[in-house]
Amino acid sequence: MSRLLIDCPHCDTPLEAPEELRDEIVPCPACEQPTYIPAAEVSDTDGPTPKQLAYLRDLFGSPPPTGLRKGQASAVIAAMIGKPRPA
Ligand SMILES: [Zn+2]
Repeated sequence: MSRLLIDCPHCDTPLEAPEELRDEIVPCPACEQPTYIPAAEVSDTDGPTPKQLAYLRDLFGSPPPTGLRKGQASAVIAAMIGKPRPA
């Protein structure tokens, strides 16, 4: 089973996550802040996933702009936490 590495956007701790946690929000083991594990598939045509919306709402403290598409949500998240990389 492959695993992913992302950097916690709150404390920069490298986090290792199994593939099955993609598109889930999990607490960082170091700082316990919610951290979104990016979904595998990114489509420009679909809207953001509910988990992406929830995570963006956490990050910005308000709902993200309506009409935000999934690819844009993924780009925003990638800008915040970087792209996941193979562990
Ligand atoms: Zn953290």
